[in-house]
Amino acid sequence: MVFESQHPLVKHKLTLMRNVATKPKKFRELIREISMLLCYEATTDLNTQPLDVATPMGHAEGRELVDKIGLIPILRAGLGMVEGIWEMMPGAEVWHIGLYRDEATLKPVSYYNKLPTMPTVQVCLVLDPMLATGGSAVATVDILKKWGARRIKFVGILAAPEGIARLQGAHPDVPIHVAHIDDHLNEIGYIVPGLGDAGDRQFGTG
Ligand code: URA
Repeated sequence: MVFESQHPLVKHKLTLMRNVATKPKKFRELIREISMLLCYEATTDLNTQPLDVATPMGHAEGRELVDKIGLIPILRAGLGMVEGIWEMMPGAEVWHIGLYRDEATLKPVSYYNKLPTMPTVQVCLVLDPMLATGGSAVATVDILKKWGARRIKFVGILAAPEGIARLQGAHPDVPIHVAHIDDHLNEIGYIVPGLGDAGDRQFGTG
């Protein structure tokens, strides 16, 4: 399943992010805010259980989250997506995954992965702003499934149809939540019209 946000705030913030004149500080604020909105939409099916709370006036039947959430930012562009989501779900665990593309084989190779042997979370949110070729997303979900994760969702900002096809082909059980599905990938794997290099735009390295 692919969910493309229809929320006006998401559309507004994405437009500001795309703008070539948007500076890194503003870009970081926007990535933080848009990630919160996308995460809100991606987590509507989390499990809750009843919880009785004492209010100043009596008792209320509330709900508390049951699922332990893991945030899995793909380095480095996924880092900016963590902060806002973590603020909303402070009990989440954050597990970084680092991948680079082997120039000879063009396949993603893992260079950073500190996952413990047994899974410690019930729901994994894979965070990467750009679902471009889909190579890193597929490799990350492969890693999480080998780890034993059962419920995995991909949360990104922009997706190319090519990346969606690749992730859905390899992992049809992983829902994809994005702000927008763009037109295509160019010959060097950038999303068009896109927003440029999401890592460079956050970290001022472009
Ligand atoms: N990664 C980016 O940062 N931008 C793209 O357009 C594609 C991949």
